[in-house]
Amino acid sequence: DALDRIERANPALNAFITIADRDVALAAARAADAARAAGQAPRFAGIPLAHKDLFVTEGMKTSCASRMLDTFIGPYDAAVVSRCKQAGFVTVGKTNMDEFAMGSSNENSFYGPVRNPWDHGAVPGGSSGGSAAAVAARLVPVATGTDTGGSIRQPASFCGITGIKPTYGVVSRYGMVAFASSLDQGGPMAQTAEDCALMLNVMAGFDERDSTSLDRPAEDYTRELGQSLAGLKVGLPREFFTDGLDAEVARVVDATVAELKRLGASIVEVSLPKTELSIPAYYVIAPAEASSNLSRYDGVRYGHRAAEYRDLTDMYEKSRAEGFGAEVKRRILMGTYVLSHGYYDAYYLQAQKIRRLLADDFRAAFAQCDVILGPVAPTPAWNLGEKGDDPVAMYLADIYTLAVNLAGLPGMSMPAGFSASGRPIGVQLIGNYFREAQLLNVAHQFQ
Ligand code: GLN
Repeated sequence: DALDRIERANPALNAFITIADRDVALAAARAADAARAAGQAPRFAGIPLAHKDLFVTEGMKTSCASRMLDTFIGPYDAAVVSRCKQAGFVTVGKTNMDEFAMGSSNENSFYGPVRNPWDHGAVPGGSSGGSAAAVAARLVPVATGTDTGGSIRQPASFCGITGIKPTYGVVSRYGMVAFASSLDQGGPMAQTAEDCALMLNVMAGFDERDSTSLDRPAEDYTRELGQSLAGLKVGLPREFFTDGLDAEVARVVDATVAELKRLGASIVEVSLPKTELSIPAYYVIAPAEASSNLSRYDGVRYGHRAAEYRDLTDMYEKSRAEGFGAEVKRRILMGTYVLSHGYYDAYYLQAQKIRRLLADDFRAAFAQCDVILGPVAPTPAWNLGEKGDDPVAMYLADIYTLAVNLAGLPGMSMPAGFSASGRPIGVQLIGNYFREAQLLNVAHQFQ
């Protein structure tokens, strides 16, 4: 049924880059049925699941929406993929995304843009736009995403679903194609906070194959669901409610605040004074790390190789020129520039200092409140093509999500309303380190 739905919907949505082989998926589903009949089924036996196409999947194409990896078949399963298999999920496909997860609209894909299921003229958000659209269109109940600077939260908001980026280090990055390793984090995208909690139980856990994975006791992320919000202190950062915020988004955040008060929460104003600096800091650090991570695509070991070349250098140049799209090249240029001798101190080191100050801002804010509430993005989903030739306008739209990654904190998006034109608007909840269960409970009260 899931495969039928995907095959019917995908020509219009373009949410999937790869749809699973029917025989392979049906065999997995039948094995789940047999295990259930024998009373040995894992908890999620037979539930269809889609993975963002940057999780490596054994025997299945993993393209990262890049021409560079258009023919790459995963030789093993990412940690997240094997954990999901063990829990019984059946992989029904790999979802579209911005190339190498660089973007906020899913328009930077070698396979073309994804359409927002609510309005085919709107972007679904990015970079996990295919996963968000697949869940929003009810093609799968749950999908995986990754978030380096907002890529789970912003498409969740634009598509009216729920998504959570956990504390950095909670979900293993083993087998996740690297964009900016100190910021990348996987997480679930689903209809509800409860489904996200159940899915995070599956995805999270220590993994010695990821050197930044945190060795902590396993948690049940559903454990706080249903707890009263009486006495919860919700912080509203002053800097999130300035001129740049669209009135319709502000209205939706206000309505959420009113409902939180009704549920017994108290509201406090907090300050995140360095918020504006998160854009330049992120757009130095993320491209710097990306330029290093993407140096592995040299046409030798794997990925696209130019058909004709004179010598080794010519082969590198042609392969990379043909394999990478425009935004990826822009990031490699920016990253290489800020890391180069003479500019390193002025850009990269400065950005790292700002990164520390942004984390300090959050520490001060969390001394005054339990969770932070704000917008996910300054506007509802924009029109396809609207920001196509203006990369800086696209970067500026990341203002509310980037600092969360730079500080390594958990953040989530929950559906909260609609624009006058019927486009979904989510609100963002930011928690202190390892307070995912608390965030999920707050969102759960609205569902
Ligand atoms: N929009 C941001 C960028 O383009 C974040 C992307 C992400 O979280 N992967 O880098």
